[in-house]
Amino acid sequence: MHPFSFTKAETTREALNAGRRGGRYIAGGTTLVDLMRETVERPEALVDISGLPLDEVSVTERGGLRIGALVTMSEAAAHPKVRTLYPVVSEALELSASAQLRNMATIGGNIMQRTRCTYFRDVTADCNKREPGSGCAALEGFNRTHAILGTSDACVATHPSDAAVAFAALEARVHLLGPDGERQVPFADFLLRPGNTPNREQALRRGELITGVEVPALPRPLRSGYLKVRDRQSYEFALTSAAVALHVRGGVIREAKVAAGGVGTVPWKLPAVERHLVGERLSESLWAAAAERAADGSRPLRHNRFKVELLKRTVERQLRVVGGSK
Ligand code: SF4
Repeated sequence: MHPFSFTKAETTREALNAGRRGGRYIAGGTTLVDLMRETVERPEALVDISGLPLDEVSVTERGGLRIGALVTMSEAAAHPKVRTLYPVVSEALELSASAQLRNMATIGGNIMQRTRCTYFRDVTADCNKREPGSGCAALEGFNRTHAILGTSDACVATHPSDAAVAFAALEARVHLLGPDGERQVPFADFLLRPGNTPNREQALRRGELITGVEVPALPRPLRSGYLKVRDRQSYEFALTSAAVALHVRGGVIREAKVAAGGVGTVPWKLPAVERHLVGERLSESLWAAAAERAADGSRPLRHNRFKVELLKRTVERQLRVVGGSK
């Protein structure tokens, strides 16, 4: 591990000042410390923000839900408001990592976590995300778990977060605080596709701090849920996943929010699937027809062609589970 300085911020102002000087924020540390041990990450200065007052879940004036950046994954998953208003968020969190990690890891850290591409974590391998310009070992290497959507010639790594898939589906907003004040960024704009700069992963300005994630109010009743398909049933990342929320009235789908995980370089919103659903009556034949659009635009690699069909089936199954057919 490379040497680094460590400061504990007592106030938000202290944290922002340290962040502006180039300090890296750390809270649960469940990803960053691992990466530092492997010398994948070599920050000069860490700023511990775990004592800041960003650990509340609250209902907003507009009827949405705001989850503080320092709420742990297990606290958010178990929170009565999250469970009742947005089960898809709660389920995505509960299907993530292990109980021990969920007790430490925070919501802010969860959406900031870095890819599980094995070449990224192997400092002897070429990786444009870790060392810009060095190449991408995954393109010609073993790429079974890599992305089929949103890829570029520079990087094909998936984003690993499950909660981020639920947030993308629900069109959440990320609340940020920086030296220039507060701002909000739509979730779809916060996590960046790799393009030519896979080392740049979030739309963060220097020194900015995530203060929370806001899930907007959606029409009620709202049925929602998360399905994760993986090689083993616990402590494993998604091969494919689907976050689905449906507002159904009078047997007709009035709103549909759908996103996929395990397949995109960022959590992958599925607007073509949503459009196929809205205005339709619930029926057994609807789910497969809508899910047929889930892999539109995909570019499979040598070892992950199976994800195209698996993604469609994952979305179809979760649409059927959430929507039923009555
Ligand atoms: Fe690095 Fe991305 Fe290629 Fe993986 S897929 S080796 S993270 S550039």
